[in-house]
Amino acid sequence: MLVSEIHQPKDLAETLEIMARHPGALLYAGGTDILREQGGRGLDLPPVVVCLHAVPELRRAGLTERFLEIGASVTLAEALELGESALPSLLAQALKGVGSPAIRNLATLGGNLACRERFMDAWPALACLDALVELRDQGGAAWMNVNRLAGPGGEPAFPVGALLTRIRVPLERWDALALRKVGNRDYPGPDTAVFALAARADKGLLSEFRLAFAGERSLRLREIEARIIGRSLPLSDRERSYFGAEYREAGSALPEPLALQFGALVEGALDMLSR
Ligand SMILES: Cc1cc2nc3c(=O)[nH]c(=O)nc-3n(C[C@H](O)[C@H](O)[C@H](O)COP(=O)(O)OP(=O)(O)OC[C@H]3O[C@@H](n4cnc5c(N)ncnc54)[C@H](O)[C@@H]3O)c2cc1C
Repeated sequence: MLVSEIHQPKDLAETLEIMARHPGALLYAGGTDILREQGGRGLDLPPVVVCLHAVPELRRAGLTERFLEIGASVTLAEALELGESALPSLLAQALKGVGSPAIRNLATLGGNLACRERFMDAWPALACLDALVELRDQGGAAWMNVNRLAGPGGEPAFPVGALLTRIRVPLERWDALALRKVGNRDYPGPDTAVFALAARADKGLLSEFRLAFAGERSLRLREIEARIIGRSLPLSDRERSYFGAEYREAGSALPEPLALQFGALVEGALDMLSR
């Protein structure tokens, strides 16, 4: 039987020092994704595991006038307890849709964003809110837009060897928000994906429009967004069908049931802006 070396660092400096000594170490937050497919009697873990639950710097949350900052090891249940005055409603809706209450008690926001096999439920909401993530490694710390956790082909691209420490969510006024989960709601599967939309209007013009969809692959089509932003509201029938066709075309790369659902959700969003 393979025995893993388990490290329980007491602070951020010690975590980074262990990561530097063991570059292939597995970072273990809530463990709900790491153990998700493990139904056997023993646990299958790599030789070195770093448990993040006792690192105080990763467990904090703070609020300023402009943004909410959430430590990577804050659980989804704890994030939801921040309440609607602090937690943007698009993110709250996404977190409420994750698994069951028992999963949300263990699962962390950092673990949700750092899954490498697929996008989990928080990413589309955070992508629409243009949230930032702080990543650290031996080389130092860097803030990065959460949209950069998706590669050029929409694949998950969480950087290898990086520790996610904080998530910074801008607090902005939104006039239209939508979040829908499609496919299997209780367990991430190939047909599960989340659609998120955030839009704002100023003086009758659409001043912000962001739309993200992600499951095994992500779609955030900034070129289309840039062409919709600045149009007067309501959108005309011509604009609605033109942008609907553009989004459907981009979504046709998705597997069949998701392509149809994506098209219908975009249709609904554009419909809302046409009224
Ligand atoms: C029954 C069940 C149902 C589920 N349903 C859903 C669902 O509906 N929606 C959904 O989104 N997810 C779901 N999940 C998956 C999972 O629970 C969540 O994605 C969760 O947020 C993962 O967080 P965690 O803390 O448990 O991550 P972990 O399992 O600890 O880690 C996940 C990955 O992230 C890495 N990691 C963790 N923290 C960091 C960090 N700070 N820096 C860098 N890398 C890090 C780990 O090394 C690992 O690769 C489900 C899981 C189960 C078992």
